[in-house]
Amino acid sequence: MHVRRQLIAGNWKMNGLRADGLDLARSLAAWLDADGTAVRDHVDMLVCPPATLVAPVADTIAGTSLGVGGQDCHAADKGAHTGDVSAWMLKDLGASHVIVGHSERRTDHHETDEQVRAKATAAMAAGLVPIICIGETESERDAGQALAVVSRQFNGSLPDGATGTNVVIAYEPVWAIGTGRTPTTEDVAEIHQRIRADARERMGATAEALLILYGGSVKPGNAAELMAIDDVDGALVGGASLKAADFQAIASAC
Ligand code: PEP
Repeated sequence: MHVRRQLIAGNWKMNGLRADGLDLARSLAAWLDADGTAVRDHVDMLVCPPATLVAPVADTIAGTSLGVGGQDCHAADKGAHTGDVSAWMLKDLGASHVIVGHSERRTDHHETDEQVRAKATAAMAAGLVPIICIGETESERDAGQALAVVSRQFNGSLPDGATGTNVVIAYEPVWAIGTGRTPTTEDVAEIHQRIRADARERMGATAEALLILYGGSVKPGNAAELMAIDDVDGALVGGASLKAADFQAIASAC
């Protein structure tokens, strides 16, 4: 039995037109409040659709146990930032969480720890829970730097005022995202323990409540093994969150 309530969050990335996205959200919500009630008792489920679908998904799942979040937010509340979305805008649509610092944004948009921290700070100010992503590249792991990199990203990306209940951390080794490869259970345990230890330094006793998700090629076939690891409190799921049956199977493995 897990010591914390688990979170299974789906990152749809840049996938989903209106009809398919709403179908997926509708069927997950229906499952969670019918066949999935045993899961719902100890797991929160969240979908993070592209920004274009946050509002219709929020409307579609209103009144159900499924949650909705964003995939990114700007650090500013409003202003001259063409194409960006603020945390307040996501909150206004009914989002509860927002992913920040995903490795695809760190790579595609050159986001630094400092920028991720500013985004997480903005999310907290808007009343959203930031899901702060951290994780090493393959070359960093090969060079024996995984623990040091993750620790540096954790400390650099975590806002002042973060506690175990107002942020979520997702450990996502970059080389495991979308590749079908996963770290060993020992490697996942080692990193999650380090994050928990770093969190104790930064957050004191509330670190015991912090959710530390694992992300990177989580599938129905490996979810039970990954979710059974100490200090793994759920998953951030990419590809497998686009199929209702797979996402449900992952949540059921918690
Ligand atoms: C992700 O994008 O956060 C992710 C973990 O992707 P995947 O599950 O496809 O590896």
